[in-house]
Amino acid sequence: MSIERTRPPYGGHGERGVSVLLRRMHEAVAEEATAQERLDHLTRVIASHIVADVCSIYLRRPDDVLELYSTEGLNRAAVHQTRLNWGEGLVGVVAATQRPLVTADAPLHPSFVYKAETGEDPLHSFLGVPLIRSGKVLGVLVLQNKASRRYTDEEVEAAQAVALLLAEVAASGELLGKEETAAVGEMLHRPDRLEGAGLVPGVAMGKAAFHEPPTPRHKVFAVDVAAEAERLEGGLQSLRKSVDDMLADESLAGVSRDVLETYRLFAYDRGWKDRLRAAVFSGLTAESAVEQVKADNRARMSGARDPYLRERLHDLDDLAHRLLRHLGGDGDPRKRALPDEAIIVARMMGPAEILEYDRAKVKGLVLSEASATSHVAIVARALEIPLVAGVDDALERIFEGDEVVIDGETGVVHVRPTAEIIASYREKQELQSVRQASFVDERQLPSVTRDGIKIEIMMNAGLALDMPHLERTGAAGVGLFRTELQFLIGEQLPKVEAQMRLYREVLDRAGDNPVIFRTADLGGDKAAGYMTRRLEGNPAMGWRGLRMSVDRPGILRPQLRALLAAAAGRDLYIMFPMVTLAREIDAARAMLDREIEIARKRGNALPASIRIGAMIETPAAAWRLSEIAKKVDFLSVGGNDLAQFYFAADRESEMTQSRFDPIDPGFLSFLAMLFDQAAKAGKPLSYCGEQAADPLMAAALIGLGVRRFSIPATSVGPFRRMVRSLNAASLAAWVSARLADTSDATRLREDLEAFLRAEGADFPSRR
Ligand code: PEP
Ligand code: MG
Repeated sequence: MSIERTRPPYGGHGERGVSVLLRRMHEAVAEEATAQERLDHLTRVIASHIVADVCSIYLRRPDDVLELYSTEGLNRAAVHQTRLNWGEGLVGVVAATQRPLVTADAPLHPSFVYKAETGEDPLHSFLGVPLIRSGKVLGVLVLQNKASRRYTDEEVEAAQAVALLLAEVAASGELLGKEETAAVGEMLHRPDRLEGAGLVPGVAMGKAAFHEPPTPRHKVFAVDVAAEAERLEGGLQSLRKSVDDMLADESLAGVSRDVLETYRLFAYDRGWKDRLRAAVFSGLTAESAVEQVKADNRARMSGARDPYLRERLHDLDDLAHRLLRHLGGDGDPRKRALPDEAIIVARMMGPAEILEYDRAKVKGLVLSEASATSHVAIVARALEIPLVAGVDDALERIFEGDEVVIDGETGVVHVRPTAEIIASYREKQELQSVRQASFVDERQLPSVTRDGIKIEIMMNAGLALDMPHLERTGAAGVGLFRTELQFLIGEQLPKVEAQMRLYREVLDRAGDNPVIFRTADLGGDKAAGYMTRRLEGNPAMGWRGLRMSVDRPGILRPQLRALLAAAAGRDLYIMFPMVTLAREIDAARAMLDREIEIARKRGNALPASIRIGAMIETPAAAWRLSEIAKKVDFLSVGGNDLAQFYFAADRESEMTQSRFDPIDPGFLSFLAMLFDQAAKAGKPLSYCGEQAADPLMAAALIGLGVRRFSIPATSVGPFRRMVRSLNAASLAAWVSARLADTSDATRLREDLEAFLRAEGADFPSRR
């Protein structure tokens, strides 16, 4: 229920309407008087509007004690005397749980605490609601009545609406004295600790910079309602126009377009506008009206379990933030200057968006959404930017410019950390660099198991600046060069010359080590800004990878031309992504043959050898591997996509990723079937999904016979160290026995970890 529909609880004068309440609240706040007098006036206004026997306001002090600051109905001598600890009494419970508490008979409630000085003996009904601002409890509003009754849901919602305003007023400095406002401010800016999933390891420190800039401060009550209504109208119009403009932008694709379509629906939604207008006409500023309706939506929808509804709630929040920026005259958040050491905070980002930032300044990322195999995580990993995702309320609890420390290993985010926390993370950072240095020292050691099995460890790359990692890690080459990154960064399709320059530089830097170039795997969420695309319901299963390449010779052929030219006189490895059917290879190969022929006719030097490979990323390709194997020289399993399609679980979604572990007997035996076909066909096979960066998954794959991997550069050192501590034969025996034993499909990960530990394997624990 929103403010415009507030009705007083028990015995109230419902017909007076909320505008009267707001006008009176405004008068109380604007009064020339001491802060205490203003607060008392406000309490009286609320009590008389709601006709509660008692209305009290408790505020949270910096020591987390809840102090009675004002009351109408209780013994006035109790003001500033009655104090409750966090969690103590009904008021303490409301604060600690951040939820309203309603009871018909307060003294019978197990948490009830009697405070003699308040003289509250004859009161029975109790309704307490927290004053919440930016996810923090600033105090508690309490309404009480003598008669024993249960407040209705509507009444609770109405009290919540008043509490929301109170919290806003308290934080705005319009109500309290300097000292109390500072205390409230201090509360909002206290050290905080958030938790998410660590997706890219490493400790990062810096100042929070919002991917979408934050909204400016604003007043709560309107001075001139008609003018506010006009401002609201103007803000809405410019918001709608900006959403329309973004949608008209042909270059937008995939997920962002879906989100924008939803925005458009909401931006034009009559109900939303009506509720905003009603809030303004009840006496709020346009900004406060937006906050009010936003909080109202949150209250109604945040408990929803349905992921669709939760997603819509995010959309509505985003749209509200956009509207606030338009009201502040800053509706066009262009690229902003970043602090030198920035931690980017966002709800979600596409892989291309990270690349648009100045890489030297971005030290870390905090996202509300993203999973370990999402492309944004892959790019962050390639760039070695620590990433914590799944931090639901990051946008609520972090303020622009806050000091932030993130730990990409444990998933912990410290906001406004104390000096001790900073010091301990600096130490961790140092230890990590010592550990990293120890891997550098080991880079020349052979990657061979204790029983003499050679495991080839290559690294993934996508930009020229990844190449120095080759030497630093001692990787045996680049097993997956994601060429699409160059396509994603630019404003236009990269020219053949630009592509050739990049490939040549990469080959030069790789020296004698092989580089496997994967042709541009575009589509899905890897949408280049300048490419027009049709809207697809399921972009991951849509027009992407090799499917798009064979339909668009204008992209693939120039790329093949660039590859042939760059590798003149050297060995060239070309790999095609997202193969589904063997005949797609024929189409791609025909284009390659055509380019070879043209180069030959022109007298251009050709590579010394050309080998082509197929990425096995769909169950269809895995099932008919033998057919595909005949047409290529080598195979590579793209485990990120293959697992996504095997489990029918979106790799971008943390919600689905957290429920399926690739160390699953079904998935592993499916892989075993695939490896077996490759071995029978006599074709070399590598595994290049991100999952192999997880030491346990890597060990399981070695147990299944995989001998070549391509993994993120940061994982090469730890991987080599683990390989050198393994016994491949006993591992293979263990894995095959476990997969054969279909009676016990649970705990495979835990059991494998225990087995490896017992064997003395050297690897860090990750989950
Ligand atoms: C994969 O799918 O496992 C893979 C390596 O390709 P990408 O992650 O780039 O889709
Ligand atoms: Mg893939």
